[in-house]
Amino acid sequence: MSEPALPPLYARWMLAHLGGPIPPETRATCGSCAMVPPPDEPMGRTHFDPTTKCCTFVPRLPNFLVGAVLLDEDPTAAQGRVTLEGRMLAGIGVTPLGLARPPAWDLVYRHGVVRGDQTFGRTRLLRCPHFLADGRCGIWKHREGVCATWYCRHERGAVGFDFWEALGGFLHVIERALSYDAVLALGVDGAALRRLVDGPAAADGPALDGRASPAAQRATWGEWYDRERELYIATAARVERLGWDEIRAIGGPEVEAHGRLVREAFERLVWARTPERLRLVPLGSVDIGRETAAIVSHRTYDPLLVPSALLPHLARFDGRPTELVRAEITAAGVPLEAGTMQKLVDWGVLVAG
Ligand code: SF4
Repeated sequence: MSEPALPPLYARWMLAHLGGPIPPETRATCGSCAMVPPPDEPMGRTHFDPTTKCCTFVPRLPNFLVGAVLLDEDPTAAQGRVTLEGRMLAGIGVTPLGLARPPAWDLVYRHGVVRGDQTFGRTRLLRCPHFLADGRCGIWKHREGVCATWYCRHERGAVGFDFWEALGGFLHVIERALSYDAVLALGVDGAALRRLVDGPAAADGPALDGRASPAAQRATWGEWYDRERELYIATAARVERLGWDEIRAIGGPEVEAHGRLVREAFERLVWARTPERLRLVPLGSVDIGRETAAIVSHRTYDPLLVPSALLPHLARFDGRPTELVRAEITAAGVPLEAGTMQKLVDWGVLVAG
């Protein structure tokens, strides 16, 4: 059985926004990670480390999700709650808006990106604090937009990737709007509000050693100092009560614009169609085996596997009618089924034109 596509709160909002359920991504399952090497096989160049999987990431958690984790009394969520309380206790990036990423983590992450190191999914130093020893996510039911929308592989290749990217951006702007709305409603004001908008003051120190300055915390929380938990829980209760129309009103034009893009991407996701004329794009990396070839198009994690015998025939797609070219290829002794055709389009190997 596939896992629900989104956390319950976000699933409710997206059902209201899209008017229908989001198809599940069955090729990427967190319970049985598709990216780790098979048992007894060494890690290959594109594998993820089984002790991190894709969770070499520290999520920024908006205040209302922090509150939702704290409120969750499900015994299976208890371990995850402890990991969240650990972040709160450390105090780094803990503000009325939620939990930010620790600067030291950011530094290591960016270092890897700048050097082009393949750190993602492979560096234990970057592992998420909510990643449990048994490989589960401790805050799964309340994970934020990036974690809720990231998949290593998609049912419909680049079409799915584009949809989830758009949805990730949408959830991010909603999270930001709702977390600000909640702090204003709860009376975070004056100097504390200014610190939320301006960011930490230089006098706070770099916080790279993982210790929070009590003075900075006091200034950040203002009247809510020492009542952090209370504020997070109040924001969760407030957001939980909001209807979708209220959320759109709070989010304003930015949420509206992202929402429109998500709706368009959703239509492409649920409606598959093969263009009447197709042409081949220049192929990047292709790994040709005896039976099967792996074409990398939109991302290395998700190559498209096609029969090797089909490869030399793809250049026939030069803008002539799709059915004509398909008949040509079939006549050359290489069956080209409708499913394979659709995948070539979904993975962006063939494009309209
Ligand atoms: S919050 Fe959960 S899904 Fe996100 S990175 Fe951490 S362990 Fe992984």
